[in-house]
Amino acid sequence: MNHPCLSCGACCAYFRIAFHWAEADPSLGGTVPVELTEKLDPHRVVMRGTQSKTPRCVALVGEIGVAAHCGIHPIKPSVCREVEPSWEFGRHSPQCDKGRIAHGLTPLTPEDWIDFSDAALPAPPENV
Ligand code: SF4
Ligand code: SF4
Repeated sequence: MNHPCLSCGACCAYFRIAFHWAEADPSLGGTVPVELTEKLDPHRVVMRGTQSKTPRCVALVGEIGVAAHCGIHPIKPSVCREVEPSWEFGRHSPQCDKGRIAHGLTPLTPEDWIDFSDAALPAPPENV
């Protein structure tokens, strides 16, 4: 069984992904490629594509609900790291459920994790 996020990607095409501009400034230790961002306000940038009425992050690769993944997973913004898939850690995730429902996918349940083994986990990000 693959990690459920790898056949989803819905939350990356639902929310506006906003974060402090320093996360995209390498001189300050930022890792997010600045060319994938655009200014939101004096303090924040957003991932390009996520301010649209039909949002889709520019870094999302693949087809939502079929096979999708973050193209910058090891260096993605902090807000993306904070989104938990529902029930992966034994609790419901409102963001995950909202994203999946908006794309016609059923929310994850505890049963979706029964057959998931550590061997199926994506390679851990470097430098994190
Ligand atoms: S909506 Fe949930 S299952 Fe889908 S990619 Fe986001 S966290 Fe993973
Ligand atoms: S940076 Fe990656 S995890 Fe964050 S919204 Fe974009 S595709 Fe999703």
